[in-house]
Amino acid sequence: MLDSPIEYLKGVGPLKADLLKKELSIFTFSDLLEHFPNRHVDKTSISAITDIHAGTDFIQTAGIIDNIVILGEKRSKRLVAQLRDRTGTIELCWFQGIHWIEKNIHAGKLYLVFGKVAFFNGKAQITHPEIEPWVAETAEGKNFLEPVYPTTEKLKAKGLNGKQIGKLTMALIEMISPKDIPENLPNHILENLILLSRWEAYCFIHFPKNQLEYDKALYRLKFEEFFVAQVKLGLTRLRRHKHSKGAIFEKVGEYFNTFYTKYLPFELTGAQKRVLKEIRTDTGRGIQMNRLLQGDVGSGKTIVALLTMLLAADNGYQSCLMAPTEILATQHFLGLSELLKDMPVNIRLLTGNTKTAARREILSQLAEGSLHMVTGTHALIEDPVVFKNLGLSIIDEQHRFGVAQRAKLWAKAAIHPHVLVMTATPIPRTLAMTAYGDLDYSVMDELPPGRKPITTVHRNEMYRVKVMDFIRSEIDHGRQAYIIFPLIEESEKLDYENLMDGYEHVKAFFPEPKYWISMVHGRQPADIKETNMKRFVKGDTQIMVSTTVIEVGVNVPNASIMVIENAEKFGLSQLHQLRGRVGRGSDKSYCILLTGTKLNNDARERIKTMCSTNDGFKIAEKDLELRGPGDIEGTRQSGALNFKLANIISDKEILEKAKKEAEMLLSKDEELSSAENLILKNYLLHKKGKTVWSKIS
Ligand code: ADP
Ligand code: MG
Repeated sequence: MLDSPIEYLKGVGPLKADLLKKELSIFTFSDLLEHFPNRHVDKTSISAITDIHAGTDFIQTAGIIDNIVILGEKRSKRLVAQLRDRTGTIELCWFQGIHWIEKNIHAGKLYLVFGKVAFFNGKAQITHPEIEPWVAETAEGKNFLEPVYPTTEKLKAKGLNGKQIGKLTMALIEMISPKDIPENLPNHILENLILLSRWEAYCFIHFPKNQLEYDKALYRLKFEEFFVAQVKLGLTRLRRHKHSKGAIFEKVGEYFNTFYTKYLPFELTGAQKRVLKEIRTDTGRGIQMNRLLQGDVGSGKTIVALLTMLLAADNGYQSCLMAPTEILATQHFLGLSELLKDMPVNIRLLTGNTKTAARREILSQLAEGSLHMVTGTHALIEDPVVFKNLGLSIIDEQHRFGVAQRAKLWAKAAIHPHVLVMTATPIPRTLAMTAYGDLDYSVMDELPPGRKPITTVHRNEMYRVKVMDFIRSEIDHGRQAYIIFPLIEESEKLDYENLMDGYEHVKAFFPEPKYWISMVHGRQPADIKETNMKRFVKGDTQIMVSTTVIEVGVNVPNASIMVIENAEKFGLSQLHQLRGRVGRGSDKSYCILLTGTKLNNDARERIKTMCSTNDGFKIAEKDLELRGPGDIEGTRQSGALNFKLANIISDKEILEKAKKEAEMLLSKDEELSSAENLILKNYLLHKKGKTVWSKIS
């Protein structure tokens, strides 16, 4: 029934059907049913004119029309009429369709009128009211709130405005019965959460008797959207757990223990310990780990990665650590080599720049198994790289690393290696639960002890000299500073010039030979970039002028100042990432956001947020709020966010509840085979398109 083409509905001819398809993608009855109203108007009662007061918004009233006159000339030409009931009068006014009104509205007759009240010189008036002749049945008003639907100009022109669509929906609902919209949620959930039935929800979302009924219908349908999505994600996860094999890291051996007891340079934080435990559980049970590890900048993800790699080595497996840039891969390599220098662990670096001879050696060591660990860039997933027995792949700072790319890593081993994706990009819980819901998820929400919070301030250009003076005094105390320029223009050339201008400017403040400046940008050849970066890391230069290429991962503990030029041009998460480059040592650190003098509201919000908190999660939430989930990169196409009614930001609580219920349900009955859960199973099986279920059984 609901699959019927929309032209079969009474009142929809071929012309309207065509437009509904083109303009609103309404092809079938069920599409119309899921075209939800964006508001309702209340015509359930008829007010007396005397009840109209300054606070009145929309009103429905009735009375006799008289004094129809046409006033004004040209653009102020209008038709004005009085509507009078026993209690008073109100003015009705039309600027358009005057001719039609003149012909069809007659003085001395009774009319029902609805519209928005405005006041002119203290007198109440309704402009362009809806008006219809009074008939006895309307005396009580409508017995439901009247829906208003999203529509388009083209549809309006053909007699389908926001309210007229409601007539079609009404006709449809009158045609169908509860069996056309069968329940899909198990009974105990309906009962526990006191939800409306699916049929009721669809009726009331369109035609509720009152606000409460509408709210209940909306809640039920939002819950259903989240719940169904969570069940699907849960099934995907379960399926992977069931059908994937993983290397078993059963023992904690020499490598791990020796490192842990002798060379670990600090006590692990509680969060690091917890995450390690989660990883141990994941890697010990014979199924492939797919875990997303989110930890704010500086929370210490690298050491977790290393310990996991040692665990792999203890069990006879090789591991790789992949980073998005040459700089970061190199830094990882140097850092890990230093930590492992007294251990019999073989670790190498493989990037696009690795020289042929070294590359040949690394590749052969990987193939024969004498190399325990390799860090590198994307070069690692290139074809000639063959591992003897890769058991673990760690991907750093790249939560967007796609499924396809991950699969490439898997293809390198008979048994798929465990995958740990690490990111400092804070992902709001709600997004993690939806867009990344098929991954297991760990959070490190604790920074190592002794970190001093970074002081963040906002300064406009007028203070540039003062800012430079401040940097100078910090540098004279032995610290280092970053000065970041944004990529703002469409053109790379302009960005480059912008950076060069900035560089000259900085140089004027900090002349050689007292001060030395490193500059890094995307146009430089990799080796120049590398050299400049290294000089800064070693402390040979005090200032790093750069574009956002240093955004991720880079660790220079002595750098205590981060200046961000044109900070208003950056997104929140990027600002937070950049700020995370400082505050890594024992010195008090500062982040200075330089902006123009005029800021739009969004930019002001972003800057304010940055100045008020260091908490990556709060920033992520704000970011999501300001940009909306559709704009968060990489999630747009995921489909996990395509909810019709529900919104992962404003309906967070419903999402949490749906997730909990879905998890409970699957933990008790992962085949959805109990009598009560069959309706859900059938729903998933029959839902439009292929569902995960079809892949499962
Ligand atoms: P991120 O999570 O941003 O990748 P890193 O792993 O680079 O962070 O760690 C940042 C710094 O914190 C490093 O210098 C690291 O040695 C240090 N660190 C990590 N864990 C601890 C800890 N438990 N106690 C003290 N310092 C730590
Ligand atoms: Mg890192």
